[in-house]
Amino acid sequence: MENVYRYVFSKNKDLSRELRNYLDSKRIKYKEGPILLSFTIGQENKNWEKIDNIVARINGSAEIEVVFSREELSKIDYFALFTKKVLGYPQPEYDDPKGDFIDFSFDKETWCSICGSNRNQKSPILLKKKDIPIDQFFFSGIHWINDIKFVNDYTASIISRDLSGASFSSVSYYKGRDKFENLLQLNIKNLFPARFKFDKAKEYICPNCQTKKYISLMGTNYYYPKELKLDKDFYLSEEIFGEGLFSDRFIIVSRKMKELVESYKFRHIIFRPILAE
Ligand SMILES: [Zn+2]
Repeated sequence: MENVYRYVFSKNKDLSRELRNYLDSKRIKYKEGPILLSFTIGQENKNWEKIDNIVARINGSAEIEVVFSREELSKIDYFALFTKKVLGYPQPEYDDPKGDFIDFSFDKETWCSICGSNRNQKSPILLKKKDIPIDQFFFSGIHWINDIKFVNDYTASIISRDLSGASFSSVSYYKGRDKFENLLQLNIKNLFPARFKFDKAKEYICPNCQTKKYISLMGTNYYYPKELKLDKDFYLSEEIFGEGLFSDRFIIVSRKMKELVESYKFRHIIFRPILAE
C-alpha cells in the first residue's frame, strides 16, 4: 500500500512558479483550471519528497489516499463500503418548521443532540419526490447519514440470493408518504464484533452523553484483530466517525460482496480495505 497525495493550489500564489518549474522539469502532469492547479503523486515516487518540501514552504496542503495493489487487495477479507451517488437530503430538512428528519424517521429520545450518537431509526426515510433514475442506481446513499444506503429491486434480489446479513425495508416520499417503487433501504443488523483501530484518528468525548467517538483522519488505515470469527457478508461498525452531529457507522462488507459487485459491474461504489492484524 502507498500513500498517494493530491495537491491543490491557488494559481495566484507567486511561489507556485517554483513548483510549476519543478513539475515541468520532471514531466509530472498537473491539471490547470482558471483558479486552481492540482496534481497527484505517490509517496514512493522519487520526486515526492522534494515536491512535499516545496509544498510545505508555500503553505500548500494535500489530500492523502491510501492505495492498495491488486495483490494486496486480493488478500483482504473485509472492506468499508461508500457510495458516490446520493438521493438528496433526508426530509424534512433542518429548517422545516414542522421539525426535521430526526423527529420524523428516528427516535429522538435516544438521539444525542450534541454529538448525534444513538440514532435509532423508527420509520422509513423520507425523500423528496424527484425523477431519480433508480434503475441505474444499484447502490446509493443520502446526504448527512453515511450508514443509510439504498438499493433498487434488482440489487436487492442479488443480495438476498447470494449474501448474508442484509434485509430490506421501504423508503417513502415525503409528500403523501407513498412508498417508492423499486427503491429499498438496506438494513444490516449485525454489529462488527470489534472496535476498529485507526493509525490516524482523534478522540472526542461528548460532554452530554459521554459517547467516545474516534474521528478518522486523512490517510488512516483501519484494523481489526485477525482472530475474529466473521461469517456474514454485511456488518455495521460501531459509531466511529464524524465531527459534530455526524455519528455514523461504517458499512462493512465481505470480499465476496465486493467481488459480486464487481462481477455485475455496479458502479459508483468505493471499497476501503479493513486490515486484519
Ligand atoms: Zn452525545
